[in-house]
Amino acid sequence: MKSPAFAYARPASLGEVFTLLKTHGDGAKLLAGGQSLLATLNLRLSAPDILIDITALPGLSGISVGKDTVRIGALTTHREIEHSGDIAKYLPLLAQAVPHVAHVAIRNVGTFGGSIAMADPAAEYPAVCVALDAQFVIAGAKGERRVAAREFFKGMYETALQPGEVLVAGEFKIAATGYRAAFLELARRHGDYAIVGLAAQADCSGGKYSDVSLAFLGAGGEPVLARTTAAALEGKAFGPDTIALAQNTLAKDLDPPADLYSSSATKLHLARVITGRALAALAAAAT
Ligand SMILES: Cc1cc2nc3c(=O)[nH]c(=O)nc-3n(C[C@H](O)[C@H](O)[C@H](O)COP(=O)(O)OP(=O)(O)OC[C@H]3O[C@@H](n4cnc5c(N)ncnc54)[C@H](O)[C@@H]3O)c2cc1C
Repeated sequence: MKSPAFAYARPASLGEVFTLLKTHGDGAKLLAGGQSLLATLNLRLSAPDILIDITALPGLSGISVGKDTVRIGALTTHREIEHSGDIAKYLPLLAQAVPHVAHVAIRNVGTFGGSIAMADPAAEYPAVCVALDAQFVIAGAKGERRVAAREFFKGMYETALQPGEVLVAGEFKIAATGYRAAFLELARRHGDYAIVGLAAQADCSGGKYSDVSLAFLGAGGEPVLARTTAAALEGKAFGPDTIALAQNTLAKDLDPPADLYSSSATKLHLARVITGRALAALAAAAT
């Protein structure tokens, strides 16, 4: 199928974007890498009057490292993230996740901001951002605001972005020495959206887990932070008993909805499996 007809604009400043968004209201859609949006147009799931191509906007692309933070511009492509030495060094959880995002051809053009704004419940970046307690920088006609990733995802394909706003960047705190990261997912084929996945980070100093973050993808309408399981792990020594404790606690955090291929029980079982693997990987990385 082909998409319905639409007008096209390629503004050179955020100010022009805000004007276009105000003029066209619900009829306007921002276009970044197009890897999700163009599919919805071609399937006629969406029929905007105008696409506002934001790829010419200055200042929305690239990765910069500050004293304590890493900032990723919304237009930074998955491929740039994948090949960034700074991401590998300072955000190893994201570095582990990005090869799971689709395939190389899609990673070449798809963007960080597009994935966050799309908020697919099985996408990798939202879970990573929730695990790392990232902040999103959002611009609108009245200025900028910041929203924590843990508050940003509101449900399946729903976010805290308001009409007229543009996601500008994500900001991540650099973890202290001693923290380790593990990203795991189970998918029918590599590059497919995950059945279930886990973005995990913890302070693994001294042979025990503390300050644990476990964010699941594919386990709900938005990334699910397993707070009860993380609390149960606090101060526990590495080993099979601790892994079993986490796996047994997980049902208090997760009640994954069934999808076309997997029942809720299967998803919970798979989540337990990757939790065990992730905790073992965190411990192995620390010793
Ligand atoms: C075959 C296939 C497999 C895929 N597999 C995966 C996968 O396994 N994991 C995964 O995470 N993704 C997957 N994707 C999606 C891919 O990661 C996309 O790159 C991403 O979801 C959207 O990024 P984009 O830049 O292409 O955004 P677009 O398609 O251009 O936009 C997506 C949506 O976000 C909005 N938007 C874009 N940028 C902004 C912004 N800065 N501010 C506000 N709104 C914005 C658009 O208006 C649109 O609604 C897959 C895509 C395809 C085609």
